[in-house]
Amino acid sequence: MKEIQSERLLETIERVYYNVPWYRSKMQEQSLGPEHIQSLDDLKHLPFTTKQDLRDNYPFGLFALPMSEIIRLHASSGTTGRPTVVGYSRRDISVWSEVIARTLTAAGVGKDDFIQVAYGYGLFTGGLGLHYGGEKVGASVIPISGGNTQRQLQLMKDFGSTVIACTPSYASYMAEAIKESDIPRNEFKLRTGIFGAEPWTDNMRHEIENKLQIKAFDIYGLSEIIGPGVSFDCEYQNGLHINEDHFIPEIIDPETKKVLPEGELGELVFTTITKEGLPVIRYRTRDLTRLHFDTCQCGRTLVRMDKCTKRSDDMLIIRGVNLFPSQIESVLLEMDETTPHYLLVVERKNNLDTLELHVEVEDRFYQDRISELQNLNRKIKTQIESTIGLSVNVKLVEPKTIKRSEGKAKRVIDKREIR
Ligand SMILES: [Zn+2]
Repeated sequence: MKEIQSERLLETIERVYYNVPWYRSKMQEQSLGPEHIQSLDDLKHLPFTTKQDLRDNYPFGLFALPMSEIIRLHASSGTTGRPTVVGYSRRDISVWSEVIARTLTAAGVGKDDFIQVAYGYGLFTGGLGLHYGGEKVGASVIPISGGNTQRQLQLMKDFGSTVIACTPSYASYMAEAIKESDIPRNEFKLRTGIFGAEPWTDNMRHEIENKLQIKAFDIYGLSEIIGPGVSFDCEYQNGLHINEDHFIPEIIDPETKKVLPEGELGELVFTTITKEGLPVIRYRTRDLTRLHFDTCQCGRTLVRMDKCTKRSDDMLIIRGVNLFPSQIESVLLEMDETTPHYLLVVERKNNLDTLELHVEVEDRFYQDRISELQNLNRKIKTQIESTIGLSVNVKLVEPKTIKRSEGKAKRVIDKREIR
């Protein structure tokens, strides 16, 4: 594995140095050329890449291939202004299918299965990612996309879906819906779930497994690296196996940015070593985890990572959508009627994440005329929703009622039990 990684790393460094001016100048700033990167040990000298770097190079600035070689574009959801855009070559799509095929295989999914892909199809990588991986293992793929729960249940029963792929919170919601429907459980053939795109704990796994009477597998990924399929659960579920022949993981201290010794908890960083369209060097995921190098009971030697439930920044993941409080803030700052004092309350109700925004209204706009306030409420709701791509309940509050803080403002109350 080390040999493969070394060889592929050197190829990748050549690729970005000669094809991506941004990486070339980053490396030159540190007096680094491709000749200084001789082996895996030199990885630690290379510059980091962040989500902001992708935004700054919007839309295609970090691509290492001409657009004529890019056959697919995806973009992150729920970001202000510039989303992060990712591009795939034909070979990238094939690598992506391969890593998801491994994920499905490890979950015991094969050609006799029916996979109901209830991740969103579109710019989000969930739907199409699972779709191509499902086809690769030869399963019958049902591209139903998210939502419309009654139709999900109908087709799940009629088609005999054996596998469901969606977010864990939607799986939990579906379990409730099955219970409330009059269809007896034994009319469903469902036995396996592939769940990801948001953090979830082992407790939630057991809850879903009990309620749906299936085995639930975790799939991890992020669009900047390739999408879902970066790492996956095997049948022993003692950490997610990383497809390290395509993505080299490192664990760093998020403050000092130094690589931490084996087994320590820190921020997960990935370098892609086979990607052609958008190779990324030392991408800071902001997810906190640790790596396990011992051989798994399943026999796979791929390094494992703990389930990610914590982050090193303030990003929230709500119903699969990434949300930074700063996005809310910038919308509020653009509106005269509001102050930048706000509070986000995230809850999990009926197994679905809900978002509530408390926002202070400017003194001069705060009046007794209910209709005015209702209009303002609607206006804020519309602006926020169109920016973040999530529904939100807006509560207008009187000026100076949101608690001020001396230090870092507390913007978020997360009541979900995912930590
Ligand atoms: Zn294993």
